Amino acid sequence: MTQTLIRGRLLSFLRRPEAIDDTASYRYEEDGGLLVEDGRIVAVGSYATVRATAPDDAEEIDHRPHLILPGLIDTHLHFPQMQVIGSYAANLLEWLNVYTFPEECRFVESEHAARIARHFYDEMIRQGTTTAAAYCSVHKASADAYFAEALKRGMCMIGGKVMMDRNAPQGLLDTPEMGYDETRAVIAEWHGKGRNHVAITPRFAITSTPAQMEMAAALAREFPDLHIQTHLSENHDEIRFTSELYPDAIDYTDVYAKYGLLGRKSLFGHCIHLSDREADAMSEAGAVAVHCPTSNLFLGSGLFPLKALARREKPVRVGVATDVGGGTSYSMLKTMDEAYKIQQLLGERLNPFESFYHMTLGNAEALSLADRIGTLEVGTDADFVVLDASATPAMALKMEVVRSLTDELFLLQTVGDDRAVRETYVAGKAMKAAL
Ligand SMILES: [Zn+2]
Repeated sequence: MTQTLIRGRLLSFLRRPEAIDDTASYRYEEDGGLLVEDGRIVAVGSYATVRATAPDDAEEIDHRPHLILPGLIDTHLHFPQMQVIGSYAANLLEWLNVYTFPEECRFVESEHAARIARHFYDEMIRQGTTTAAAYCSVHKASADAYFAEALKRGMCMIGGKVMMDRNAPQGLLDTPEMGYDETRAVIAEWHGKGRNHVAITPRFAITSTPAQMEMAAALAREFPDLHIQTHLSENHDEIRFTSELYPDAIDYTDVYAKYGLLGRKSLFGHCIHLSDREADAMSEAGAVAVHCPTSNLFLGSGLFPLKALARREKPVRVGVATDVGGGTSYSMLKTMDEAYKIQQLLGERLNPFESFYHMTLGNAEALSLADRIGTLEVGTDADFVVLDASATPAMALKMEVVRSLTDELFLLQTVGDDRAVRETYVAGKAMKAAL
């Protein structure tokens, strides 16, 4: 089996950084080597050490002076909203009804879904995102297109056919039975095929009847290892409407808890306005609050208490995500730039090591996939990204005075975007050059 030796400056996290000087939370090799075979990392360390163990005929790729990090991970976005991004709306519910729902109706057509899927994965690769958790549309055809394209590219992807049976146009509604049957069919056809993970995906409480929530509960019982993804506590009107629709629930989080949807593999988009009781319930269940900063600012939804949730006596697990098309950028760098600004407005500091932890290992942990992705450890999948902090003239000029890794990371996060992504490797294969 041929091996590839990749040389560059390696940065990989071992755990969440507790402070800006917490150097034990990451591994950094100024002149590092990664040996890749059959899609896996088989050796990592200083270039000299790895070179000595590598076979003489190993192909060598030199990415110096650029940084090599584990592939970036996006824990929440919407595959059928590529043509919704940047739509002018007053708030969440208007944005859904005027732009998003009509657009998602088009995914009943397999051809349209397949075309957008190609664009979607091209964009992921352009942005250095090697794993994402996405919502498809209500149509099974959209999930088929999404997973078929992931399989073709060898990418580790999470996705689900959305379940929704009310409060949306006719073309976007299933029924409790259809939602159940089609989700089962998607699981049977795609889960575990290649690196695909199917998620149980009720869009949110507003668009599912109690009867459909019962079906989601049944799926969660039958497939306890699957991810569950939905939305929670994004916007005050949404919260109010949800409590009208589910008068027996204590609060919004309790709606999902009642249907057995609150667990360690549950990913809840937004969670901006959680009460203490809800945050405790999330913490006790080990459920994940997914922060979508560009979306929250764009839709004016609110300021997510990222640091405060982690600091609680009962901390809440947190992921970070773009939430395209409510989000305004596919870039995880841009996403953490906006996350930083939201913490600034809340009087908190988010240091660049924490930001890069969140984009990589933090999100892998949020997805319960840290044994496979989000690190450069031996035995894990060879998904990584090559970042160039001098990618644009403005960045190169600033880099002339940058003296530390901290400042370089902060520059990448604050000014960088897809132009800073030199290469994206998926299972050891350079994907960006092939686009
Ligand atoms: Zn969303």
